[in-house]
Order: sequence, then structure tokens, then C-alpha cells
Amino acid sequence: MNDDIRYNRTFDLLPGRVAEVAPGVRAVVASNPGPFTFKGTVSYIIGRGKVAILDPGPDDDAHIAALLDAVRGETVTDLFVTHTHRDHSPAVPKVKAATGATVYAQGPHRLARALHVGEAGRLDASADMDFRPDIALADGDVVSGSGWTLEAVATPGHTANHMAYALKEADLIFSGDHVMAWSTSIVAPPDGAMSDYMASLEKLARRSEPIYLPGHGGPVREAPRFVRAYIRHRHAREASILRRLEKGAADIPTLVRAIYIGLDPRLTGAASLSVLAHLEDLVARGMVATEGPPSIGGLYRLTEPPLPAA
Ligand SMILES: [Zn+2]
Repeated sequence: MNDDIRYNRTFDLLPGRVAEVAPGVRAVVASNPGPFTFKGTVSYIIGRGKVAILDPGPDDDAHIAALLDAVRGETVTDLFVTHTHRDHSPAVPKVKAATGATVYAQGPHRLARALHVGEAGRLDASADMDFRPDIALADGDVVSGSGWTLEAVATPGHTANHMAYALKEADLIFSGDHVMAWSTSIVAPPDGAMSDYMASLEKLARRSEPIYLPGHGGPVREAPRFVRAYIRHRHAREASILRRLEKGAADIPTLVRAIYIGLDPRLTGAASLSVLAHLEDLVARGMVATEGPPSIGGLYRLTEPPLPAA
């Protein structure tokens, strides 16, 4: 893809191994690599002695054993969850049962908007519908433990309940799936919403933490600059959609073919949903029109005729 994001796909951690990735932060990666998960979900252990675990990961016994092994002799006081996709939160019940830790998150899984007719159940496979936090966090809430302080940073967009966490002691942010170094984030309605996602990026761009530790892959460095590149990337994607629509009405498969060159075929569904996310936003802003609510099968056109070329 031709854009100005400097992706970093370096990631050497092997499943089951523990690595110190920042002062007071250890990482354990799950063995669930894939087109959406890169090398696997990264679970983080925060602190020493009395620790917190962030994103315990999928319900995978080998990963849960590796995580508990990594904290042998220590006390896990708290569990934090960035969002309720099945690669992030389903290990919570087993880790909680083993440790008695308190579970924090924004809330249970929920959709970014009401379902349209005929849309039901489309994304159930990716969501952990059973997850419930012990304590629901709001934006700006602060939780501290033994030698660590986490500030909840509400970052809806990838999911409606996505929460990033700023670790004060290390001046870094656990960015979950909102900002990752290896790839852009997937924003797929009705789970996610582009307008929320853009607002969450703008919010992070105003913060100063230089390093992000994401839910997949290695750290994001020079994070505020990287986030601004993410924002430009989305604006460019939106501009390509509008440019294609200037040639006439188009459906989503046509737009995907026009915009994504050399797309991994396994990602066609995700790309279609990402285009739908942009179209929902453009329809809400009155720039694009469609019949009824924006849907994956809809036909889209510009609301205004294009300006004549100068
Ligand atoms: Zn996710």
C-alpha cells in the first residue's frame, strides 16, 4: 500500500517466552498468528511482585499457562482489558480464577450503532460476548497498584468499548488494537465506527507519550508522529473513495478493487467493512448518499456533482 506510514514489522518474541519490553513491563505472546493478529496477541505484565496483567489474550491453555508461569512467585492484583475481541479477553475467567485479580475494562462488548435489518450476527464470531469487568472504567479514570499507575484513555473506533491505558511510570501507552506498528487498525461496522476512530486518533495525537505497546507486534516509537501518519492515511483513503465516486455511483466491491491494490485475499472482507466504515462516516457528513442506511450491499454516489476540472 502506498502511504507514508512507516510500519515496523520487527517482532522477535516467541510464544510462551517472557521478555522485558519497557521498564517494569514484560510481554508474553500467544500462539495465535494470523492476518488480523500478526504474530499473535501480546499480553503484558506490569510491575514486579504485585503485578497487573493487560489483555490476558485468547482462551488458549498454553498461553494462560505461560502467563501464569511468568508471574510465578508474584501476586496478580489486577487485570486490564483493552477491548472484547476474542483474541484479547477470553482468557480473563481462567486467569481471574487462578489469581483472584480484579478485572477492569470500559464495559461488556457492544456495537457502535444499532444493527440494520438483515445485519444480525455478522460479527459475533470475533466478539467475546461473555466478558464482564468487575469495575467499569471511564475515560481519565486512574488505577494504581504497587509501583504502577494506569490512566484509562477511552479510544472507541476499533470497537465501541476500546480502552487504551497510559502507564505513568514509563511514559507509555498500551494502545491495544487502536494503534499498532505493523498495520493500520481494522474499523468494521457495526463493531467499530470511523468517526469514533478518527476522534480517538486525534485525541492520542494531542498526547505526548513517545512509546505505545500495542496488542499485536512490537512497540510504536515516535508515537505522536506515527498517529498523525495514521490520520493522514485515513484522510487519503477517504479521498480515494470520493475520487472513485466522482466517476459515478459504485458498490463496495468496486470501491475495494479501486482502492486496495495487491490486497491479501484473506483481507477482502475486512477491507470491505473498512470501506463501509468510511462510507457511513461520509453519509453522516452529507457528502455521500445511498438507499436507506449505509450497508455492505449498498450503491453509493456523491451528493454533489463533481466540480469541473480547472
Ligand atoms: Zn481487536
